Amino acid sequence: MSDVPESHPRYESLRLRERIIAGVEAGVTSPHGLIAHGRGEAYDYLLGEVSGAWADRAVEATAAYLLRAQRPVLSVNGNAAALVPDELVRLSAATGAPLEVNIFHTSSDREAAIARHLRAHGAGDVLLPDGVAALEGIESNRRFVHPRGILRADVIFVPLEDGDRCQALRRLGREVLTVDLNPLSRTARAATVTIVDNVIRALPALLEQIRQLQQQPPSHWQRIIEAFDNNSVLAQAENRIRSAEEA
Ligand code: ATP
Repeated sequence: MSDVPESHPRYESLRLRERIIAGVEAGVTSPHGLIAHGRGEAYDYLLGEVSGAWADRAVEATAAYLLRAQRPVLSVNGNAAALVPDELVRLSAATGAPLEVNIFHTSSDREAAIARHLRAHGAGDVLLPDGVAALEGIESNRRFVHPRGILRADVIFVPLEDGDRCQALRRLGREVLTVDLNPLSRTARAATVTIVDNVIRALPALLEQIRQLQQQPPSHWQRIIEAFDNNSVLAQAENRIRSAEEA
């Protein structure tokens, strides 16, 4: 950042804002994404801008689900692409899960810009909706998917999901793994696993967890999945926010 000193107490937060704004300017992120980011910032502030124990547990479960999956897919929107493109590309390489562009506000130009952006960060093939394959029970543009990607995926990792699609995917029997700073959102409550953390911290932690769990047998992944309770991690994150309100 040109004019903000690194010593500024909000340096990291301001740096992320600039990344999102650059995403909008590059046609990767929607202007609506700025508002979603602002909501995320507010929750991050209340959570103390650190990754709590609730996030660690959810990161571990997410890694276990991704490793156990038969057909995992990483669903990417404009905010995730702007904030963590390198980490998404590395996660795809580490898990074998393809990257698929999927956005809420219809724009084939933006879909193509996100795919180009991911490729510029080292991605190979990036799946795009073909305009034909569609998921049942979703009204928004997010219903359009790739026939070899989300359409047939058993596990979908989707940082910054929207509530409607998350609920529809769950109704279709899919496992949804999400990252959402708001433990009260419909997405957070409907997902199989919710990492209540900033994607900027969650993705590096997830990559490290994948690396560690790859050295363990599938029976270990299974035990992690069986022991995981999403309601419990959401309650812990919510308690943290409520205690910040009282402080
Ligand atoms: P829902 O439809 O699930 O109820 P919403 O309507 O509250 O969600 P959206 O506007 O669809 O929210 O998406 C914004 C969500 O993304 C918010 O819950 C916000 O906390 C979260 N978010 C924004 N930026 C980040 C980030 N960097 N890391 C993690 N979560 C984020």
